[in-house]
Amino acid sequence: MGLSKTIWATPSEYLAKEEPENPVLFFSPATLQATARRFLDGFPGLVTYAVKSNPDEMVIANLVAAGIRGFDVASIFEIDLIRRVAPGAAMHYNNPVRSRGEIAEAVELGVRSFSVDSRSELAKLVELVPAGSEISVRFKLPVAGAAYDFGAKFGATSELATELLAMVAQAGLVPSLTFHPGTQCTDPMAWDAYLRAAAEIAHRADVRIARLNVGGGFPAHRLIDVAPEVETIFDLIDRVTGEAFGEDRPALICEPGRGLVAESFTLATRVRAIRDDAHVFLNDGVYGGLAELPLIGIIDRTEVRDAHGQRRDGAPRGRIVFGPTCDSVDRLPGELALPGDMEEGDFVVFHGMGAYSTATVTRFNGFGVLDIATVMRLTD
Ligand SMILES: *Cc1c(COP(=O)(O)O)cnc(C)c1O
Repeated sequence: MGLSKTIWATPSEYLAKEEPENPVLFFSPATLQATARRFLDGFPGLVTYAVKSNPDEMVIANLVAAGIRGFDVASIFEIDLIRRVAPGAAMHYNNPVRSRGEIAEAVELGVRSFSVDSRSELAKLVELVPAGSEISVRFKLPVAGAAYDFGAKFGATSELATELLAMVAQAGLVPSLTFHPGTQCTDPMAWDAYLRAAAEIAHRADVRIARLNVGGGFPAHRLIDVAPEVETIFDLIDRVTGEAFGEDRPALICEPGRGLVAESFTLATRVRAIRDDAHVFLNDGVYGGLAELPLIGIIDRTEVRDAHGQRRDGAPRGRIVFGPTCDSVDRLPGELALPGDMEEGDFVVFHGMGAYSTATVTRFNGFGVLDIATVMRLTD
């Protein structure tokens, strides 16, 4: 990934001047810091950032500048990154499966908070982490609401979580609970169900939990007609935690990835060809910055700019859109409504592209070079 030293005013200024052949992600530090402040002001507890959603050092540095003091890390690489870019920040190692070597290295690097969802991994932690460490038992519920099911890979059933929580307390470690309602979770009632289940698990285990981590999953603005209000979710979390736990109310943590970072990046792709006036071929696709679209649905917050950066406003026409590789899977889901006057060489610009874009891009078929440019603001 190339990083330009210049700070541009807007993406369209860059597109007109540079006419880039590679896809470009435009990063607005101002947008990222404003989003971080929204979480810091509104969430009734500690706001941490899930590094995997976008591990760019500029992202981490701007989150620290905005006041983020904790990070959800899942690998030694991410722990090293946070130690370097955000020294002194809290690190929560919330990947419930780790090798013994990884646990030992994390302890060495100062990590004192771990999640767990099984007896075998709890036994490893009890053996290897120092006294005073926090162990958060991760549980799952069969709850709908998110874009895809996070519970398919991680999370103990309520019964097992009750058993694990009691074991953590018995081992003399700091007992906590954690869950993840699933990414892009647009239904606030998912948190309602999880919070009440957490109180029930703590009650049945007869353990007063130190902290409750309510996960990531906070939705980003993907569809024009669905602008999520995270404040509604924050208020619900605050109220339901009080109702469910009463006097045993734990300290709260959240660990958003997408909700913090998505809005601060805009992706500009270029039209390589419009084949016989029908299908559109872009220079980026599902093996690159658009990897998530087939998994969690389309982003319809798009605009088309001509080679001079001017916005096209022809009547929309539904098009099948392909990415650049020779793999037929490399296609955006459904059809995209794109201006009828769109031409080869135009730019198709996707907003809200900061999460799971740079992080998951591949070099498949020789494509996947994404440039990053810093801008003052993302819209004209
Ligand atoms: C990925 C992940 C997150 C972030 O999820 P988002 O949906 O991006 O907010 C938070 N916590 C854990 C444990 C994760 O694995």
